[in-house]
Amino acid sequence: MTLLKDLNERQREAVLATEGPLLVLAGAGTGKTRVITYRVAHLLEKGIPGNSILAVTFTNKAADVMKQRITDLLRSSGRDASDVWVSTFHSFCARLLRREAKNLGLPRDFAIYDDDNQKTAIKRAIEQLDFSAEDYPPRSVRAQISHAKNNGITPDIMEAEAQQARDKDREDIATIFRMYDAMLRKANALDFDDLLLRAGELLREHPKVREAWNSRFQYLMVDEFQDTNRAQEEIVRLLAGSRKNICVVGDEDQSIYGWRGARAGNLKRFTEDFPDAKIIRLEENYRSTQTILDAAAAVVKNNTDRLGKTLQATLGAGAKLRFFEAPDAPAEAEFICGEIATLVRNDRDARVSVLYRTGAQSRSFEEVLRRLGIRYRVVGGFSFYERAEVRNALAYVRLLFHPEDDVALLRVLNVPPRGIGAVTISMLEARAKETNQSLWGVIRSGEFLTGKKFSGALNYFRQLMEDLQAECAEMAPAQLIERVLEQTGYLDWVEQQDNLEHSSRAENLRELANAMAEATAQGQTLEDVLDRAALIADSDEYDETIPVSLMTLHSAKGLEFDCVFLAGLEEGVLPHGRSLSKPADIEEERRLFYVGMTRAKQSLFFSRAIYRRSYGEDRLRASLPSRFLAEIPGDLIESASGSLSDPGETRRYEPDPDYAENHSYRPQRRRAPYGSTSKPLRGTKDPLIGTRVRHSKYGVGTIIEVEGEGEDRKLTVSFRDYGAKKLVERYANLQLA
Ligand code: ATP
Ligand code: MG
Repeated sequence: MTLLKDLNERQREAVLATEGPLLVLAGAGTGKTRVITYRVAHLLEKGIPGNSILAVTFTNKAADVMKQRITDLLRSSGRDASDVWVSTFHSFCARLLRREAKNLGLPRDFAIYDDDNQKTAIKRAIEQLDFSAEDYPPRSVRAQISHAKNNGITPDIMEAEAQQARDKDREDIATIFRMYDAMLRKANALDFDDLLLRAGELLREHPKVREAWNSRFQYLMVDEFQDTNRAQEEIVRLLAGSRKNICVVGDEDQSIYGWRGARAGNLKRFTEDFPDAKIIRLEENYRSTQTILDAAAAVVKNNTDRLGKTLQATLGAGAKLRFFEAPDAPAEAEFICGEIATLVRNDRDARVSVLYRTGAQSRSFEEVLRRLGIRYRVVGGFSFYERAEVRNALAYVRLLFHPEDDVALLRVLNVPPRGIGAVTISMLEARAKETNQSLWGVIRSGEFLTGKKFSGALNYFRQLMEDLQAECAEMAPAQLIERVLEQTGYLDWVEQQDNLEHSSRAENLRELANAMAEATAQGQTLEDVLDRAALIADSDEYDETIPVSLMTLHSAKGLEFDCVFLAGLEEGVLPHGRSLSKPADIEEERRLFYVGMTRAKQSLFFSRAIYRRSYGEDRLRASLPSRFLAEIPGDLIESASGSLSDPGETRRYEPDPDYAENHSYRPQRRRAPYGSTSKPLRGTKDPLIGTRVRHSKYGVGTIIEVEGEGEDRKLTVSFRDYGAKKLVERYANLQLA
């Protein structure tokens, strides 16, 4: 049993407790994933056949890694892991349904509709019903259908509810839903939600089938159980059968997919579904230094309704965390990438990651890393300039100056949807060929379009482009892109869909405007920006050996890096602006922050930009530091400003109260230098959130919350070195800083 030597006592216990239900409840980096990996290897060593073991992971990539690891562990014992089912819930359900298709009246070779296919199907349904895609953007219809399906709402139920509520739009959505459903059935296709739901239905309603699978899978394991949704929970229950050899591992502090249907309390519910479940807590953390763990624990303890746990590092105290305040976003990227350059130069094997809240934030890091010649990859998403919405916006810009570019024109002719469909486009193409003109040439001439039913839309497009061309000729790039995004209705349209789908494509568009503004500030022309975008989009191959990874916090789940940079720690960024009004959403953001922190093995950096460019304003806006920073005990964290290798460079990174002024931006409010003659806060009428104050003991801080009224009101102030403190204004004797 050489395997068991690699485990601590509790882990060993979890690996050996193969019979009956087991819940491993433990914090980050304690070896939960390792327990599952070793359990599978252990079962195989014991002679359990591989095809009676199912291990479920959160991503396909994690499944591949786990399978490889199991194979490595068994190398010496001569056992084979190839028959074990290691997969995500979705792949598992697809496999299950293919084998059992006949029981559901499905053909074995049913199609699986991915996001794109699904959208196309919804679009067709909308067209066939003579609704307009403008009134019902397919992406948001898709989100509503998905939500309904996952909550057991059929088209009929949706319709009845909509009628009762006199909600005409919702009634139409129900009609589209019904048509979409019929289409999928006709095409013998299942979408991603169907995979889970139909598998659940199969196991629930076909006892014979269920029993067959129960006897086949003798051992079940699920990683990241805290992020399972209702359908997945049901599949687990049904698969466990009466034998109940089911082991789930999870950490409620890492539940970050509530917005996608993961249900709070799933770990607790497991103990209700399986009352005789053994619970094992792992408390030794093998990943991170004690300093990182203490800081992470101090943050997450601010969440309510936790089961709670302790984490003990096996690695020792380690260095303090470092916090860097950059004057603006480009300086933040310069600093982080400079640190990365040093790190990867000194240690070829080091694995480094920059984590951020939304995909759009990758842009500034990508640019600096490229300039420094450091290889990187953007994980779990396209790199910034490859994203469809960014390309669409740039296609508009190109079109203003080169209207004869047919490819750019085709990209945006019907974006946002304006009723220019395939028929119109093929007529345009034919006409262009006949008369040897560009598509724009045909549209502008307008001649053959008169009287046709689609001429309205094309005329509208022509007018739009001509107006923009006239307006934009002399504009600076940033204003130009903003004008284009607004006039074409593209930004509005993307925003609407974002709201419904919890996506953040509009942020990418705003970030593009920021990129333009920065480029102008650096003396670049619009052409320079367009060239750079084209070159970036052209390169970049996926390569696992690359030491630097950029990704969103959501994509970082389960991973670990020697050094982690958590960027953009500002209110409105992390926590995200969309979550500020709801305490439950703030808690999910806090867990996201916790997930990010606990990815780090050795060093953890935080950064924020004091001024961040904000869309549609010709200036930088002062930001507030993320409230989560204030939750980290002051003695665990130090300022990173002095850490640059070349002291001559330091000045560039220091927060400079005159920065905004010198850069001819108009900041919201100028900050008085520390130690200037101060004024008491008491008596000022409305201490606004964001006001900087000085306390005799805690030093300078920023007001982040005001409760109550008058002098009895309580102020929560985030102090740099002491974290957030709640103070009664009457007694605190705060001075304006
Ligand atoms: P997360 O919550 O982030 O998913 P986890 O609990 O799944 O973390 P693992 O990824 O399994 O933790 O383990 C974290 C790290 O600690 C890995 O590098 C793993 O190899 C190592 N590790 C875990 N247990 C031990 C052990 N007993 N001895 C040595 N290393 C260990
Ligand atoms: Mg894990």
